[in-house]
Amino acid sequence: MSDTEQLRQQLLQQLDELRTRLERIRQTKGQALDKDAEEQALELENSEVEDDIEAVTLAEIDQIERVLARIDGGEYGICVDCGGPVGDERLKANPLALRCIECEEIWERKQAGL
Ligand SMILES: [Zn+2]
Repeated sequence: MSDTEQLRQQLLQQLDELRTRLERIRQTKGQALDKDAEEQALELENSEVEDDIEAVTLAEIDQIERVLARIDGGEYGICVDCGGPVGDERLKANPLALRCIECEEIWERKQAGL
């Protein structure tokens, strides 16, 4: 099995786990709606944490799906912004990296609103 194929299998498994987790978060949220007002107030704090976990889980699913699409398209390891190589060292450290280090820095600065 090639390294990329191995990564692909690993990502598919992760995706499965993340979707199961998401399903569980959403079920918990659905149950909270059935409870009475007092209980709901107590759950409010929890549900904010759940919203965070849900957002993080969704972001992870999104990222893994993007990486899988790039593997399938034969574009894995190519920077999404400049089309140059992401770099072997960088991919070893973070197999989900979509950008080369230069583009990543520019992107992060943009995300931070600078
Ligand atoms: Zn780049």
